[in-house]
Amino acid sequence: MDDQNPVPDEHLAFSGRRLAFGVVGSPVAHSMSPCVHKAALVAGDIDAEYFAYSVPAGIDEFRSFIGRARSDTELALHGLSVTLPHKSNALEVADCADSLAVEIGAANTLVMAPDGSIRASNTDYAAVLDALGEALDPDETLASRSVLVLGAGGAARAAVAGLTNSGSSVVIANRTRERADELAMAFGAKAIDWVDRSSANCDIIVNSTRVGMAPNASDTPFDASAFDGTEIVFDMVYSPLDTRLLRGAKAAGCVVVSGAEMFVRQAASQFELFTGREAPYHAMIEALMARLA
Ligand code: NAP
Repeated sequence: MDDQNPVPDEHLAFSGRRLAFGVVGSPVAHSMSPCVHKAALVAGDIDAEYFAYSVPAGIDEFRSFIGRARSDTELALHGLSVTLPHKSNALEVADCADSLAVEIGAANTLVMAPDGSIRASNTDYAAVLDALGEALDPDETLASRSVLVLGAGGAARAAVAGLTNSGSSVVIANRTRERADELAMAFGAKAIDWVDRSSANCDIIVNSTRVGMAPNASDTPFDASAFDGTEIVFDMVYSPLDTRLLRGAKAAGCVVVSGAEMFVRQAASQFELFTGREAPYHAMIEALMARLA
């Protein structure tokens, strides 16, 4: 911290070392987190670095990375955005965790206290609900809505937890049926075969698979001819922004929600956990849109 940017409060008090944040994953080179968080640090006038750490899969590799970060004498790594394949490892290395992260079984956020202890949180859960909530009419809620969740990976887990806790009736279709069964069992949802997804007939469709993500942007996880135009369609994929799934849904008259809506919300909540300050949301979404454009 320099004189022009004094330590703002106890959240950022790491005397003698340079304050740092980062994203950890593998691969991590194409992560949007550095661009969005760096914009937030600048807008929030916080003098800190934000790095992208590539750490190979495996709990031992993750533990060793955390050990190196803790013993760094130059940098005080205070907060980490955690992405694939380390979201369950993050929960395992943490000294304590928010109840939601425990319920979901994955953490996308780690905050290190000055004493070295680590707290795990999951900001994907609220980001899914908030992004979907924007698409509802003011008098509508997610309760009693039928939702088809495509996928059964980490992002789907956060979505299914949030939706079932909100009272939605959730149907899960995943390429690997056993993973859909396991997820459905954990949260009181229903699993169907992947081949039956287009006939599920739900009010809301959430894509939490990787299908349609660049460089395979011509793929789609759902047949657009199955939309009747009344659905809300949310694609967690944010690169490209306008996925083939969303283009097909828009053409059919559906309300659409892009993955950017979720991404910036989960990042904004991370910033608040990292710094104890309100996130500069507009600076974050502008940075993301500029990067994705
Ligand atoms: P993950 O844990 O690796 O899960 C990947 C999911 O995609 C699995 O359900 C997998 O099915 C499915 N899948 C992969 N290739 C497929 C194919 N060719 N056909 C059908 N299904 C396929 O990944 P994740 O963390 O859940 O992320 C999933 C997606 O959500 C990614 O695109 C990620 O970028 C996005 N995401 C977005 C945000 C955001 O803020 N917008 C946040 C988190 C994640 P199997 O089980 O059969 O392998």
